Amino acid sequence: MEQLTLDMAIQAAEANALVEKRVHAKRIDVNAVGRVYSGRPGCMCGCKGTYKVAPQYLDWANKDRGYPYTDEDGDISMRSVTRIVNKMNQYPELLEWADDGQYAFLELETRVYCAYFANYDRRVVKA
Ligand SMILES: [Zn+2]
Repeated sequence: MEQLTLDMAIQAAEANALVEKRVHAKRIDVNAVGRVYSGRPGCMCGCKGTYKVAPQYLDWANKDRGYPYTDEDGDISMRSVTRIVNKMNQYPELLEWADDGQYAFLELETRVYCAYFANYDRRVVKA
């Protein structure tokens, strides 16, 4: 009984810590996102998922990829970008942030997501 009480206290403390972490964790600002990736874990070339581009950052995304996105592939979609970012922001405590501010990454059991910031040049402090 003593042990059970201790275990319960530890569980409650851990649950509180998780809630605290969630509350204070950084969220992704969708307005800074140039493109997002959603796919199955593994290769991120696009063979296991798709990239979606924010229309306002199309030029940036084209340069970032090296060749142009086209609307006929349905790759240019703010609706899709917003949907993925909202999904990622549901797990703020699990987001991994690149040190240079280039992207935020989320890995769930069966899916990985990545949000690439189009304005990272302005975030990186140049020497
Ligand atoms: Zn691949």
